[in-house]
Amino acid sequence: MVRELTHFIGGKHTTGTSGRFSDVYDPNTGSVQARVPLAGRDETRAAIADAAAAQPEWADWNPQRRARVLLRFLQLVEGERDALARTLSAEHGKTIADAHGDIQRGLEVVEFAAGVPHLLKGEFTDNAGTGIDVHSLRGPLGVVAGITPFNFPAMIPLWKAAPALACGNAFILKPSERDPSVPLRLAELFLEAGLPPGVLNVVNGAEEAVDTLIEDPRVQALGFVGSTPVAAHLYAAAAAHGKRAQCFGGAKNHMIVMPDADLDQAVDALLGAGYGSAGERCMAISVAVPVGEETADALVAALTERVRALRIGRSDDPDADFGPLVSRDALERVRGHVDTGVAEGAELVVDGRDFSLAGHENGFFAGASLFDRVTPSMTLYREEIFGPVLSVVRARDYEEALHLPSEHPYGNGVALFTRDGDTARDFTRRVNTGMVGVNVPIPVPVAYHTFGGWKRSGFGDLNQHGPDSIRFYTRTKTVTSRWPSGVKEGASFTIPTMG
Ligand code: NAD
Repeated sequence: MVRELTHFIGGKHTTGTSGRFSDVYDPNTGSVQARVPLAGRDETRAAIADAAAAQPEWADWNPQRRARVLLRFLQLVEGERDALARTLSAEHGKTIADAHGDIQRGLEVVEFAAGVPHLLKGEFTDNAGTGIDVHSLRGPLGVVAGITPFNFPAMIPLWKAAPALACGNAFILKPSERDPSVPLRLAELFLEAGLPPGVLNVVNGAEEAVDTLIEDPRVQALGFVGSTPVAAHLYAAAAAHGKRAQCFGGAKNHMIVMPDADLDQAVDALLGAGYGSAGERCMAISVAVPVGEETADALVAALTERVRALRIGRSDDPDADFGPLVSRDALERVRGHVDTGVAEGAELVVDGRDFSLAGHENGFFAGASLFDRVTPSMTLYREEIFGPVLSVVRARDYEEALHLPSEHPYGNGVALFTRDGDTARDFTRRVNTGMVGVNVPIPVPVAYHTFGGWKRSGFGDLNQHGPDSIRFYTRTKTVTSRWPSGVKEGASFTIPTMG
């Protein structure tokens, strides 16, 4: 049976009026499991109006009272974690264990945002001039919007919504139309936790809904995560409409393996970070850079054997290392990239193109592929593949290895595997990317630090979660006051100074 999904506006489910729908697939079988409505301009505007009406009272709640809603939300999610992970896995295709990680990483940001009474504390200067005190206040922006990708349908909506709500904003979430069930359920749980109706609205849809959010003057800020072309386009559009924006895009994350690295540890790291979630992670490692021919030969030999042995299965198979891709388009795109890699002369050591899971021939399963002797001019190296494909680029020495991620147009994450502290310190200081791991292949920062890539991986000034998220979702007011009143100094026609 095909489930009918809805929008969630003003605390109520509605199918909207556009009459347009998108299919949500079961990636294991390739069949349609649900239909989600795609909002047009009218429904999106109604959601904005509803949020704008609900926001002032929410902003008037003291921060501790708002934080209690987040704390109750955490308890409610705890009670149905397994069900959420199953739903997430069944729409996305990642394994259930990995879906638990998706939820957990989102909850950690809710925990961080529950500290909002402390995070919102302003600054105060006593006696900045004679009888003059200065203080700053952090207040919410009003209505803000978040547009999120398919690949973390719990984590990224929570990264956006939790700090925005904690700061006193109303939040409109436009989740990916490919796996919208978990974001919808999370919004229901926020309501059950005590969030007033309208403070969090979920509008399902695609381009038209997003354009309406960008063009409407009642929306003050836009947080986006998705592919780079869309991130760049929406960042420019948001700026043209006078909105604050942070737009995070795609990636090509490198992992450098120095000759002194522990090879077994490096191989394990490359398998998990390269092929986990079928490579559909913005922090996936897609390029391995062994330094020196000896390291490269040993690494490729060890990888070849382990990549061939990877277990690909249904997303609910507890023994699977990874499950299917999210869609048929994604599967065809990944196969196309492997074809291009072969045509451009890279050495295809493990070929996953013909993989098929018995009994699931229509599922979106891609086999694991491994390329050796990839060069920086190849399409395989320049473009994000977002699938289970790892490219080995051999570097002569450390300097050449350092230059590869530094000069790549993307700059999300990078990792270095070494036992040498001097090399590690030099690398972390000089490499031109936003997040760096030393012997850590997926350096997603913890919730109280910030997450964000550089170059074509991130547009905007402030990162996600951590202190930057509080800055992004608030604006500062600075108050200068003189007491006692009634001090007579006469009219002054020069700019006031504290001299
Ligand atoms: P996507 O760009 O196709 O879609 C992202 C969101 O934008 C969705 O909600 C979609 O409905 C909407 N959208 C798509 N095209 C649009 C358009 N033309 N106008 C307005 N809205 C549009 O991305 P995706 O396929 O869902 O996600 C995968 C991508 O996200 C990868 O490139 C991955 O690297 C990236 N990603 C980046 C990060 C990060 O933090 N940098 C995190 C996760 C994923």
